[in-house]
Amino acid sequence: MSVLVMLEQRGELKACALEAATKAGEIAQKAGMDLNAVYIGQSLEDQADQLKGFGIKKIYAYENEKLTHYSSDGYVPIVRDLVQELDAKVIIGSASALGKEFCASLAARLGVELIQDCIELDWDGGLIAKKPVYAGKVLSAVRIDSIPAMASIRPNVIPVDPKGDDIPETEKRDMPQLDLRTVIKDVVQAAAGTIELTEAKIIVSGGRGLGGPEPFPMLQELCDVLGAALGASRAAVDAGWIHHSHQVGQTGKVVSPDLYIACGISGAIQHQAGMRTSRIIVAINKDSEANIFKICDYGIVGDLFEVVPILTEEAKKVLAD
Ligand SMILES: Cc1cc2nc3c(=O)[nH]c(=O)nc-3n(C[C@H](O)[C@H](O)[C@H](O)COP(=O)(O)OP(=O)(O)OC[C@H]3O[C@@H](n4cnc5c(N)ncnc54)[C@H](O)[C@@H]3O)c2cc1C
Repeated sequence: MSVLVMLEQRGELKACALEAATKAGEIAQKAGMDLNAVYIGQSLEDQADQLKGFGIKKIYAYENEKLTHYSSDGYVPIVRDLVQELDAKVIIGSASALGKEFCASLAARLGVELIQDCIELDWDGGLIAKKPVYAGKVLSAVRIDSIPAMASIRPNVIPVDPKGDDIPETEKRDMPQLDLRTVIKDVVQAAAGTIELTEAKIIVSGGRGLGGPEPFPMLQELCDVLGAALGASRAAVDAGWIHHSHQVGQTGKVVSPDLYIACGISGAIQHQAGMRTSRIIVAINKDSEANIFKICDYGIVGDLFEVVPILTEEAKKVLAD
């Protein structure tokens, strides 16, 4: 009996892979099971150092050029067979866009129950979890008593915490015979050097209060100073002021950064669905009655065109010290 964690990569190991490994290590220890990991991609060797200390006994590495990019018909059969070979009783992945599709497909192939998008996960003889539902309005407590059981963890909610200095053994596996109906040849990033929203520790977002596309460079400047990613509300995206890839919310990206700064965003429930699990929320809005002030930790009632440049200048001074 063992726990198996899926290590997500896109060229490099993703931060969410280390978060999943942290949680899987805790669960394996509580359940008295071994922890193994599966890596599918091009080359793990130069990254294996990052996987020390999580209590991983063995990493099963399927390395092949054809597996560099995720495809459901490539990855799912490999992990399904490995789960059966190892008799894995708990399978943990990440609730990234890729991870959610992978976990749902794997759970269906294995015929096991899955809790997606957990923000808390624990073991007391079965998997217990908390996850946001109804666009984040409610936190649902869920339990799976049957095993095998699966869970995916929302990125950025579990601090990466290797507890030991154990070095996992790596077993390289041959490329299995796969019927790859889809082959992703290349992934083109929207803009080089930008920080991916779902992985960002800090996000500065702009809404309809910006009044047009012109003020976004002002927000980008604050992002550059803070090392933040640039987000937006749907109103700003629908108006064509910024690309949809920046949209946060129910029909955009779900983010959980350490710091979320909402500028000129009213805080509609559909926007909250994508950002309310952020650790610290700062709101800048000239309407003191705006909904965003009900969920923020720090609220600034004021004109964003005055507040944002001051914040940028102050951040420059503080970070220069
Ligand atoms: C099915 C569905 C899915 C949706 N999905 C999403 C989603 O994924 N993401 C999302 O964001 N929305 C989503 N929406 C839309 C959502 O309901 C809101 O319409 C949207 O979030 C509003 O965006 P906003 O806060 O930027 O604009 P508004 O609600 O118009 O708010 C603008 C705010 O800016 C403030 N403001 C104006 N000028 C200034 C200034 N100079 N300084 C400071 N503050 C100022 C105003 O006081 C106001 O509070 C969805 C809606 C539906 C029905």
